[in-house]
Amino acid sequence: MIRPIVLYGAPVLRQKASPVSPEDPELPRLIQDLWDTMYNADGVGLAAPQIGVSKKVFVVDARQLQSPEEEPFKGVFINPKILSTDPVCAPYEEGCLSIPGIRERIYRPVGVEVEYLDENLVLQRRHFTGIVARVIQHEYDHLIGQLFIDYLSPLKRQLLRRRLKEITAGQVEAPYPLQYVGRAH
Ligand code: ZN
Repeated sequence: MIRPIVLYGAPVLRQKASPVSPEDPELPRLIQDLWDTMYNADGVGLAAPQIGVSKKVFVVDARQLQSPEEEPFKGVFINPKILSTDPVCAPYEEGCLSIPGIRERIYRPVGVEVEYLDENLVLQRRHFTGIVARVIQHEYDHLIGQLFIDYLSPLKRQLLRRRLKEITAGQVEAPYPLQYVGRAH
């Protein structure tokens, strides 16, 4: 089911998400809703807090952005842990479905080692690189209440202040359903 995406300013985007029990009867539906909502919004990743569910689950399908030499990857991450990150960082222009209309260059480690349960509840430990490593880090941040704009310099954030205020006030449109949970920030 396509669910509305929670906008910047909603408290759930700043909360630390809770671990999920693999036996949680809601889990299969949550994962399906994340896929439906992500594809409907033409996104490459979506975390449960972005549909208002403060649980440690996100989905990634960045195949449309992967280069031909990369192994195509699509996957579900349940209770993920980032075990280590590569020492080298690189810039990439990121956006976020919860912060429509803002794209900024963000530096992140080029690789990441993650432990997680996959969609079959099998424990995985994998090293990711390229765009997949980028999306994983962005989505993982959503589970700890962090957003990509937090990495911007104070000057850059100052320049975005008005736009962020508009989003917080729900004065924003996007080609997918939005959920405005208004709150002063
Ligand atoms: Zn995001």
